[in-house]
Amino acid sequence: MALIVQKFGGTSVADVECIQNVARRVVATKQAGNQVVVCVSAMSGETNKLVGLAHAIGGDDPLDREYDVLLSTGEQKTIALLAMAIHQLGHRARSFTGGQMGMRTDGAHTRARIRSVETERLRSVLDEDGVAVIAGFQGVDEEGNITTLGRGGSDTSAVAVACALEADVCEIYTDVDGVYTTDPRLVPQARKLGRLSYEEMLEMASMGAKVLQIRSVKFAMRYGVPIHVRSSFSADEGTWVTREEDVMERLVVSGVTCNRDEAKIHVKGVEDQPGIASKLFTPLSDSGIIVDMIIQNVSSDGSTDVTFTVPKGDYRKALDLATKTVSEIGAESVDGDEKIAKVSVVGLGMKDHAGVATRMFAALAKEGINIQMITTSEIKISVVIEEKYTELAVRALHAALVENGGEAPVVP
Ligand code: ADP
Ligand code: ASP
Ligand code: MG
Repeated sequence: MALIVQKFGGTSVADVECIQNVARRVVATKQAGNQVVVCVSAMSGETNKLVGLAHAIGGDDPLDREYDVLLSTGEQKTIALLAMAIHQLGHRARSFTGGQMGMRTDGAHTRARIRSVETERLRSVLDEDGVAVIAGFQGVDEEGNITTLGRGGSDTSAVAVACALEADVCEIYTDVDGVYTTDPRLVPQARKLGRLSYEEMLEMASMGAKVLQIRSVKFAMRYGVPIHVRSSFSADEGTWVTREEDVMERLVVSGVTCNRDEAKIHVKGVEDQPGIASKLFTPLSDSGIIVDMIIQNVSSDGSTDVTFTVPKGDYRKALDLATKTVSEIGAESVDGDEKIAKVSVVGLGMKDHAGVATRMFAALAKEGINIQMITTSEIKISVVIEEKYTELAVRALHAALVENGGEAPVVP
């Protein structure tokens, strides 16, 4: 007997028929001799609707505590409906909100982090041969306030519960049948991957592949729980996200991703002296702004340029803070650009394969796309480009590095 955590995303529970389909799937898993915990999202479109209501009343900056109380209602509806649907099929099921099951988080409303997960109530349902149905995306802080985990957070709820229960697998059911070499909605030639390492999936999620929330992959990696991403609408095997040792096919490039959620800030003519970078970035981190890429030029005549990226939502604030610091440290100027995108290629095989960067740059050059910034890690190369070229860049890189395997594109 296996213990399986199944997570169903918004499109999988979009209406009554979909919820009944999920109930049938859950019951079939149980009848095959497994224990099942199900984690669900809000019905498709519901969270966006609630976000809209919050802004309609609360303006640009609605009270974040109340925002979380409101957004958590989406998932609360689904758990009750799914528990009813499972009952209709003659099986026991009990629904739990995040607070009821003991999903404890910190107090950072709208982007809370999980601190601990209680398993007692879930275990008692399983021991009585029932299905535990839990609300994704939500928890409670130390004082009992409802918190939410950031958009896409139900993935993280499900994986965290799977880790706490030491489940055999966490199945993520969604509207695509696995993790693809790139977003299949953008590139029809994208190919479904059979297996992928946690490290690759982490890079892909961090670089914009929203099929799994980043933190869910971090949990799975830390506790070694395999994730199986698959379709709610077919019985086909999906993609296994697992330890590097279990990935047979070490692809040089396993994925191409894009992220349009960042903006760039460019500080020109900064004095090349100890302490300047710290002066520039401390006010940003003190304000909770997460800086992603940072590039500093080699200095010439004692001064240098620093360019960095921040989430688009924090752009105005970051630009104001940087402008203030610039007047204190006496840099030449500061400006920014919101119309950028980060395009990345990811693959385990890059560890021992040279030449991916060259082929990447050549493919972009062939399309006349200018590269503004470049960063690399052991298994990833990212470039910042003008936003309007995002889709073209993703298609060109997919064609050159995934579809076209080893062949190098010709630079005009
Ligand atoms: P859910 O509501 O089930 O959580 P999401 O919309 O959050 O679903 O995630 C699934 C979507 O992720 C797919 O519809 C697809 O468009 C997108 N996606 C982006 N990159 C990839 C990728 N590399 N592989 C598969 N899907 C991807
Ligand atoms: N309902 C939340 C959202 O739309 C959480 C989730 O679906 O994962 O972001
Ligand atoms: Mg999602």
